[in-house]
Amino acid sequence: MKLTKEQFTSMTQEMSKNIGLELNEQQLQKIYIYKEMLLEWNEKINLTAITDDEEIVAKHIIDSLQIVRHIKENQKVIDVGTGAGLPGIIIAIYFEGKIKITLFDALNKRIVFLNEVINKLNLVNVEAVHGRAEDSSRDEKYRETYDIVVSRAVARLNILMELTAQFTNINGHCIYMKADRAYEELQESNNAQKQLGLKYINGDNYTINLRDELHTRTILTFKKQETTKKQYPRQYSKIKKAPL
Ligand code: SAM
Repeated sequence: MKLTKEQFTSMTQEMSKNIGLELNEQQLQKIYIYKEMLLEWNEKINLTAITDDEEIVAKHIIDSLQIVRHIKENQKVIDVGTGAGLPGIIIAIYFEGKIKITLFDALNKRIVFLNEVINKLNLVNVEAVHGRAEDSSRDEKYRETYDIVVSRAVARLNILMELTAQFTNINGHCIYMKADRAYEELQESNNAQKQLGLKYINGDNYTINLRDELHTRTILTFKKQETTKKQYPRQYSKIKKAPL
């Protein structure tokens, strides 16, 4: 359903309150402008399959806001496979410059879109970077320099871990947002955890309530305990063919 600006912002505000977050006027305004840009650009480049306003609020914006309780001010964060900027742009709007965040994606068109959003919303301490996660390990600018890696809807957990663990510094965290089968994937990831020096911390379960339908989601957190071995991540074809 198409919502007016007032309806959109009041739905966003109300649903944020329901998860314990109070958004100010500026944050609400920026989220609305981001949504408008997302739908406008989505007509030219593929950014999101969800185009209904209410669904965008519930499944993109509020879902992305669920992760902010896992992040602290002054931390350095990277969103790997950010796509249209989810959850990264919403995290950046929420923290209003009080964290540093890199939005990282393999598709350059999406990076072009994200740079437009960053400029239009005057987001500070936010950069959009084009690249493949598995190649970034060769770049010292990215390897083991982040406190937090976040990633939503990018790959199965054991593959995702190999794509992302090298970004996190020792004692940093990898935080993965999963729609379903989170715990099944967790069971499958024991070897990946061991090889990559990750330790499972906890699973944060929540539900998205949209038009009286409940959608279950889970945020899985891992702590990095050892330096990522030099052989990881492998080339993508190898990761895919023989996941850890
Ligand atoms: N995180 C966003 C979300 O939740 O809406 C986007 C999810 S989309 C299904 C997956 C994104 O991951 C795509 O934008 C894709 O380009 C990116 N991606 C997949 N593999 C990647 C890799 N190896 N390195 C960087 N980005 C990758």
